[in-house]
Amino acid sequence: MTIDALELIDLRAGYGSIEVLHGVSLRVPPATVVALLGPNGAGKSTLLKVASGTVKPTAGCLHVGGVHVNGAAASDLAHAGVCRIPEGRGIFPNLTVAENLQMWTGVGRLRAGEVAERTFTRFPRLGERRKQLAGTLSGGEQQMLAMSRALLVDPAVLLLDEISMGLAPLVVADLYELVHSVAAEGIAILVVEQFARTALAVADHAAILIQGRITRAGTPAEVEEHLSEAYLGGAA
Ligand code: ATP
Repeated sequence: MTIDALELIDLRAGYGSIEVLHGVSLRVPPATVVALLGPNGAGKSTLLKVASGTVKPTAGCLHVGGVHVNGAAASDLAHAGVCRIPEGRGIFPNLTVAENLQMWTGVGRLRAGEVAERTFTRFPRLGERRKQLAGTLSGGEQQMLAMSRALLVDPAVLLLDEISMGLAPLVVADLYELVHSVAAEGIAILVVEQFARTALAVADHAAILIQGRITRAGTPAEVEEHLSEAYLGGAA
C-alpha cells in the first residue's frame, strides 16, 4: 500500500475562536494531482496553511509521509518536504531570472550551475529569458520561476494556491501541463483553483470544499458533475 504524501483526517482548524475547517479529510498520494475546489471563503487557503504549518489544527490529524505532524512548525514541515509557493510568488522582481536563481543557490544544497541547469531544463522559457528582470516576466513565466524555486528542494508535497490568478486561460492551461509533468516526477500536488475545469483537466482526484466541509470527492469526472451546486451556477 502506498503511503499518502499528505493526509488530513477529520481535521479542524481556524483563527482564534472562529473555526473554518469543520472536520476535513483529504488524501494526496505521491505522483498525484489533487484539485481542491470551492467557492470564496470556503476555507481552501486555510487548508493549505494547515498543511504547511502556518495554521495549527485544533483537532483531527495531519500526516506527512505517514508521520503525525499536528502542531509542527512551518520550518519542520518544510523540512519534511512540504512546500507552499508563497503569495506574491516569492520572487525578486528587480533581479534578473539568472540573479533570482543565484539567490537560491544553497537552497536544497545545489551549486549555482546546478540550480540554473535544473531550472532551464525544466522550464526552457526561463532559459531564454535569463537576463530579463523577473518583475517584467509575464504572469505565467513568473509562476514558472516561483515553481522552479519550490522544486529545488525536491519537495514531497507541493501546495499551489490559485496559480492562475490574473493569467490568460491559455497560459493557465500551459501551467497546468507543467504541474502535471511535475507530478509525474513523483511529487504529490494539492492545487487550490478558481478555474475549476482547468484544474480538473489535469487532476487525478478532486474534492469540493464548501463552508469548511468536503461535500464531494472522487475522480475529476465525478466531481465535475457537482460543480454547479458548489458554485451555485457561478462561473466554474
Ligand atoms: P478564496 O477562494 O476567496 O480565497 P478560501 O476558500 O481560500 O477563499 P480562506 O481564505 O481559507 O477561504 O478563508 C476561509 C474563512 O476564514 C473566511 O471566512 C476568511 O474570512 C477567514 N479567514 C481567513 N484568514 C483569516 C485570518 N487570518 N483571520 C481570521 N479569519 C480569517
